[in-house]
Amino acid sequence: TYVVTENCIACKYMDCVEVCPVDCFYEGENTLVIHPDECIDCGVCEPECPADAIRPDTEPDSERWVDFNRKYAEIW
Ligand code: SF4
Repeated sequence: TYVVTENCIACKYMDCVEVCPVDCFYEGENTLVIHPDECIDCGVCEPECPADAIRPDTEPDSERWVDFNRKYAEIW
């Protein structure tokens, strides 16, 4: 899965949401999240993010971001 990380906070761009083929972004007041169970790992959103906030979960320290994304995707 890909995850949204801290650089997304207060970013106003929605380019990632527009390109996602499965609509797995969820929008909160100050940030977006990706539902980790809905993301098909296509990677299309990553280069679209102007804030460099989207990362694959294979990067170190991504576990807490997966938890964060899942938690809020389910609330929003
Ligand atoms: Fe959507 Fe693909 Fe990005 Fe996953 S990697 S959030 S499926 S655009």
